[in-house]
Amino acid sequence: MSSSTEITIVGAGPYGLSIAAHLKHLGLGFRIVGSPMHTWRTHMPKGMHLKSAGLSATLFDPERKFSLKDYCRQHGLPYEDEGLPISLELFTQYGMAFQQRFAPQLEEAKLVSLQKLREGFELTLDNGERFTSGKVVLAVGIDYFRYVPAPLKSLHSEHYSHSAEHHDLAKFAGKDVAIIGSGSSAIDMAVLLNEVGARPTLVARRKTLNFNQKEGRTRGMLSRLLAPMSGLGPGWKNLLCASAPGLFRYLPDQARIRITKDFLGPSGAWFIQERLDKVPVMLGQRLFSASSTQDKASLYFVDASDKISELEVDHVVAATGYKADLGSISFLSPEIRLQMRTIGNTPRLSANFESSVPGIYFAGPSTANNFGPLMRFALGAGYTSRKLTRHLFQTTDERGNVAGRPQAAVSSQYQP
Ligand SMILES: Cc1cc2nc3c(=O)[nH]c(=O)nc-3n(C[C@H](O)[C@H](O)[C@H](O)COP(=O)(O)OP(=O)(O)OC[C@H]3O[C@@H](n4cnc5c(N)ncnc54)[C@H](O)[C@@H]3O)c2cc1C
Repeated sequence: MSSSTEITIVGAGPYGLSIAAHLKHLGLGFRIVGSPMHTWRTHMPKGMHLKSAGLSATLFDPERKFSLKDYCRQHGLPYEDEGLPISLELFTQYGMAFQQRFAPQLEEAKLVSLQKLREGFELTLDNGERFTSGKVVLAVGIDYFRYVPAPLKSLHSEHYSHSAEHHDLAKFAGKDVAIIGSGSSAIDMAVLLNEVGARPTLVARRKTLNFNQKEGRTRGMLSRLLAPMSGLGPGWKNLLCASAPGLFRYLPDQARIRITKDFLGPSGAWFIQERLDKVPVMLGQRLFSASSTQDKASLYFVDASDKISELEVDHVVAATGYKADLGSISFLSPEIRLQMRTIGNTPRLSANFESSVPGIYFAGPSTANNFGPLMRFALGAGYTSRKLTRHLFQTTDERGNVAGRPQAAVSSQYQP
């Protein structure tokens, strides 16, 4: 056993880094392990632009002095709150600068095992290090939850992949590629593959593809009244989800699970719609079978009138998203998994993001069944980091003991 620490953050995406910035400000000791902005640097396609507007594409420092807008202003880069797409490269660069500034001590390592001790937890990293931590914040993102439709699993492994496996698409130039899905990542993937010289076909179960609307400063008073703008887009429902994630917990379980799943269904970004015109699209097609020959994959689809179609390609990309499931987080010990209460296969959390295993906290998309769809987006890191770190401050003393700090100390030092 090499060392012990009071708090460990696992994960260095928008959530982990925003939490780190808040803990640093509060003067609490912590370690942070992960690969900075890893999902954005490696699991999203080069050339992509975020669907989120500039206003929502940001990380959170407690003084709100280093938003994406501040970063762009400091570097003389073009920026608009809405209406100007944010490139993946820009958002990644900004996230890396945020990490340098607020979490320079980040340790590039992966947690491979988390065990419960009588007091606190034992963490084992992929570099062999073992240490104990009083509390652990799991901000590990979505990558454990990749979803691939069952029929694709009967293909040779080199004939299919999940969209998250691809950053540089140039390797597909000259190849026939089927992209399965109807959401933003499927549409982006199809367009970007076409633009690197591949021959993509987009195939979706839905009968239509949806695109979000371009928002700008030009909306009239009535339009703004009927559909006020929020970080999740226009509309009262969006505004409520964006501004009151704490209230979401009071809804019945089934309603929470349904809203989180259905909210802002699959849609592409407004700025990509025209570029999709050059890509063949097959809609209303349900994939029911797939088979591999030596060098090709054959896909079989059925439509609403039971007509069967076949598509032969070099490769299939499942841009079919993610299904959050606690059981897929491989580093959790069986004991922790058994003790953890769930809501829709994800951890059931207190108002402070603590799971039913005291001392283990979750942050990010896996918390959406508790705090609503806001948590599926980087934007949710604002509420999460304020709420979670204030709680950690109140319940952790300098030695890492779970003890109360006087409330007065909390209010005098930190008011989220
Ligand atoms: C194609 C695509 C486009 C998207 N576009 C948008 C968008 O426009 N706007 C938006 O808000 N959201 C978007 N999202 C969703 C976005 O991914 C999440 O909002 C965001 O990444 C969540 O941040 P996070 O910090 O929870 O996780 P992530 O950004 O996924 O970061 C996870 C972190 O955990 C680390 N990690 C994982 N496992 C371990 C481990 N065992 N040990 C140590 N570290 C670990 C990783 O290294 C990484 O640092 C998009 C997602 C996809 C797939």
